[in-house]
Amino acid sequence: MAKLMNTRAPTLLCADIGGSHMRIARVTPDLNLVERRQIATPGHDLTLFVDAFSQMVHQSPVGIEAIHLSLAGLQDPETAECNAANIPCISGIALAPLLSQKLGMTVRIANDADCFALAEARAGAGMGHDNVFGIILGTGVGGGLVQNGRLIVGRQGLTGEWGHGPLLRRGDRDYPYLACGCGQSGCLDTIGGARGLEKFHFWRCEEVRSSREIMTGWLSGEPSCQRTMEGYIDLLSDALAIMINVTGASCVPAGGGLSTVDDLIEALDRAVRKKCLCKTATPIIVKAKLGNDAGLIGASYL
Ligand SMILES: [Zn+2]
Repeated sequence: MAKLMNTRAPTLLCADIGGSHMRIARVTPDLNLVERRQIATPGHDLTLFVDAFSQMVHQSPVGIEAIHLSLAGLQDPETAECNAANIPCISGIALAPLLSQKLGMTVRIANDADCFALAEARAGAGMGHDNVFGIILGTGVGGGLVQNGRLIVGRQGLTGEWGHGPLLRRGDRDYPYLACGCGQSGCLDTIGGARGLEKFHFWRCEEVRSSREIMTGWLSGEPSCQRTMEGYIDLLSDALAIMINVTGASCVPAGGGLSTVDDLIEALDRAVRKKCLCKTATPIIVKAKLGNDAGLIGASYL
């Protein structure tokens, strides 16, 4: 399948707004990111945030008509209000209209996991698949759903949030019942990301280990790490099998820090393909291809 080109790129800037840094670049039609810039995110002062962002945009040498943002947070598609735990100054603010007015150009915003999924579906590991569910295994878990090349944002921008919704029960012998950042308890997110894995390992084996150490221990055959990883892969593959049954996704590109461990992706894929209803010899859970630039590239397709 030919690479999908973004024909709007010459007049489009893309930005990746995280809790610590904002990155901006122009995306060329062949998906090269040029004129890159990065500054610290002023997370606590809206005026500083808007000024810093505007300054980055104004440094662009070509006539920019639009800017698309991948945001470490959510945007309600009805009200345009953002919710970003790590960038408190924009929470509750309709950021796209505000920036659009200030900059005099079209501004579109989407969640960073959604931009990741869109990028992988259109130009990465999910190319050629109609139904792509992109997952982030990072500090926590996130995800985004792309069907027929189109991002499914859903009500309040929440589609693809497979890490939330109580999954575990109080008193479970195999898993801890932990409070989640979303206000509920027992969500997959309490165990599924790197911090969750560390908590789970402590709960199961009473050892304080980093997620990296747990992975290394698992791969070198340490019994405690194997015990943890067995439960971890079992739980994640349960949730992913359900997601695949519900969405019909035929490709699940995985990004985020934990996804760099090949054995983890392969183990998850094997477990998921045993559990989901659709039987296939082709891997479903695969490593993402676009790395750290997925957010910027995905934003270009908004
Ligand atoms: Zn939750």
